[in-house]
Amino acid sequence: MVNLLDFDADSLTAWFAARGEKPFRARQVLRWIHRFGVDNFEQMTDVAKSLRAILATDAEVRGPVPIRDSTATDGTRKWLLDVGSTNAVETVFIPEANRGTLCISSQVGCALECSFCSTGKQGFNRNLSTAEIIGQLWHANRVLGAVKQPGVGDSGERVISNVVMMGMGEPLANYDNTVAALRLMLDDNAYGLSRRRVTVSTAGMVPAIDRLREDVPVALAVSLHAPTDALRDELVPLNRKYPLKELLAACQRYLDKAPRDFITFEYVLIAGVNDREADARALLKLVRDVPCKFNLIPFNPFPGSAYRKPAAEQVRRFQEALMQADIVTTVRKTRGDDIDAACGQLAGQVKDRTRRHSVQVISRQTPQTEELNA
Ligand code: SAH
Repeated sequence: MVNLLDFDADSLTAWFAARGEKPFRARQVLRWIHRFGVDNFEQMTDVAKSLRAILATDAEVRGPVPIRDSTATDGTRKWLLDVGSTNAVETVFIPEANRGTLCISSQVGCALECSFCSTGKQGFNRNLSTAEIIGQLWHANRVLGAVKQPGVGDSGERVISNVVMMGMGEPLANYDNTVAALRLMLDDNAYGLSRRRVTVSTAGMVPAIDRLREDVPVALAVSLHAPTDALRDELVPLNRKYPLKELLAACQRYLDKAPRDFITFEYVLIAGVNDREADARALLKLVRDVPCKFNLIPFNPFPGSAYRKPAAEQVRRFQEALMQADIVTTVRKTRGDDIDAACGQLAGQVKDRTRRHSVQVISRQTPQTEELNA
C-alpha cells in the first residue's frame, strides 16, 4: 500500500501513468490531498468513481500521528509526531502579527553532533520519508484550520505563510526526500508557497548546497556560528569536512539562483565562546564577499549543556558591530521556550542507532503551563 504523501507532482503523475491514468488526474488528487487536506478518497468528488475504487485498494493518504500537542504562553504550538519504533519528531508553528511560520524536521535525531544543539546530543536514528516531512505541513494546515475549501478561489491568505526547515536534523543530509517535500511546498496544486518563503537551513553540506541551487533554489540559511575554522571545527564538526572557505564559496555560487539576493547566516551566540566583539570583527572580514544578513540566536540552554546564554548587553554589542558594517542583523526572538520549542531545544524521541551515546538523553518533561489538546 503506497502512501500518496510520498509523491511529488512528477512521481504521482508517473504512478498514475503506470495505471493508465492521465496527468490531470494526478493534479486533481494532489489538490485534494494537499490543498484541501483530504485523506479519504470518497471525498474526492471530481475523481471518477472507478478511479476512487482503485485508489482505495492500492493507496492511502497516511498523515502523521500526533503524540502530544502543546501551546506555549506566547502562542507557539508544538506537535510531537510519532514516526514508529518509539521514535518521534517535533514540528513547531510560530504565529506572528504578519506571518505564520512552520518549522519542520527532516531527520529523527541528527548525525552532525554540533556541540550546542540538543538534537545533536541525542544521536541519529534515520531520515524522514517525504511523507513524514510534508506530512508535518499537511497536519499543521489541517489542525490550524488552514486548508482551502474546494470551489473557493485562493485568496492568497495563508495561516502558514512561511516554512523553515530548521527543526530536528540536517535537511541536506536527507537530500532526495527534502527536495520532494520542497517541490510540494512550492507546487500550485499543493501549498503554492513562493521560493522566498521557504527556507532550508544547513550546517554547511557544500556539495548538497550546489545541488539544491540546481534542483529547487529556495531561500538558504547557513548555520555559521564561528569566524574561524579552529572554533568552527569544535562547534560544528562538519566544518572539518567542508571548511569555511569552501562553504562561503558555495554560498556565493548559490546566490546565482537564490530567490533573494542574500544568504542568511545563523549565528548562535554562546557566552565566552564566540560572542566577543573581536569575533564580530573577524566575522565581518570572513563574509566580506558574500551578500548576507545575520540572524543572531542567543544560545538556548537545555539539560546537560555546559554553555551559557550571553547577557543581553553582549548580544546588543555583537549586533551593533555587524550593523556598523551595514549588515542587516536581527536577533532571533526566543519563542515557545516554556514548551522546549525554541531553537536547539527540539529533542523529540530518538533511539540512537549510532551508539555514540551510552546514556540516552531523555527530553525534559513538558511543563504544566501547556495546554494539552492531543
Ligand atoms: N541542521 C540544520 C537545521 C537545524 S536549524 C542547521 O544546522 O542549520 C536549527 C538552528 O538552531 C541552527 O541554526 C542551529 O545551529 C540552531 N541551534 C541549535 N542548537 C541551538 C541552541 N541550543 N540554541 C540556539 N540555537 C541553536
